[in-house]
Amino acid sequence: MRCSKCGREAVYFARYEGRYYCHRHFNEMVERKVKATIRKYQMIRRGEKIGVAVSGGKDSVVLMHLLAKLRRKFPFELVAITIDEGIRGYRDRSVEIAKRNAELLGIEHHIYSFRDYIGLTLDETVEIMGPREERVGACSYCGVWRRWLLNCAARELGVDKLAVGLNLDDEVQMFLMNLMRGDVARLGRTGPYYEEIHEGLVPRIKPLREVPEKEIVLYAVLNDIEVDLSECPYAVEAFRAEIRDWLNEMEEKHPGTKYQLLRSYDRLFPLIAKTYAREIGLNRCKLCGQPTAGKICKACQFRLQVVERARKKGIAFTLQGEP
Ligand SMILES: [Zn+2]
Ligand SMILES: [Zn+2]
Repeated sequence: MRCSKCGREAVYFARYEGRYYCHRHFNEMVERKVKATIRKYQMIRRGEKIGVAVSGGKDSVVLMHLLAKLRRKFPFELVAITIDEGIRGYRDRSVEIAKRNAELLGIEHHIYSFRDYIGLTLDETVEIMGPREERVGACSYCGVWRRWLLNCAARELGVDKLAVGLNLDDEVQMFLMNLMRGDVARLGRTGPYYEEIHEGLVPRIKPLREVPEKEIVLYAVLNDIEVDLSECPYAVEAFRAEIRDWLNEMEEKHPGTKYQLLRSYDRLFPLIAKTYAREIGLNRCKLCGQPTAGKICKACQFRLQVVERARKKGIAFTLQGEP
């Protein structure tokens, strides 16, 4: 097939709009979408310092490349932050990939590890907490601690906003999952943009939220970007996988479904946010000082749980630094 714009050989067909793209026009289309998203929500302002969270996976690495490219025409500061959760055989490899990409792009790169800031790795946590039935999923600790540490890193580095690599598929999956759980309040907390809800909470931006996962993978492949495509050994979120498969099936049958769902979410968001935002007055955690709805934040609660369990089991470990 031929590119709908220039007639050169096509490398991609966007079913949702019925257009073919050659390599050059595919790049242009992805980059334009990201630029438009950033502009629409004023995600980045001239001269701001943006921290991009880079795991080494496809989304975050492609995001870093796109932001680096954008910065050539629109000046802002960019630093890369990688969280090392301490997952043997997985994160050690992707951290290296993140590092190499940052080097290639000439972007200052900082690695923050669970070991240094939480006191123990995710592998150690799982070991201490024991079999699956005796603890919450590894992803719960990981997600809470990663969020906590990213915010910690962003504040330490004086970052104005944190850019995360969530794509169209992630956004729509999250929207549906929360709807199906009846958790409408949560939908009012994320959304297309984060308002400054607390001075201690660095706002997050999601410049890739209008780019389908498929296009991100293809962008990496076509442009020879090194990414880690392996999956986390702890990732077993069955519910999300079901939603993902169902969404892909619907997109196949009714092209454009994902975009329509995103539009619905974006239209609902201001209404939901208005209703629920005030419900969460934020305090400062008594232990670490980060913003929390309660007295002690979830990250510190989890940490105390693990310490307690380790003591009961007589497992000795040294906590490095207080969170
Ligand atoms: Zn073309
Ligand atoms: Zn805390």
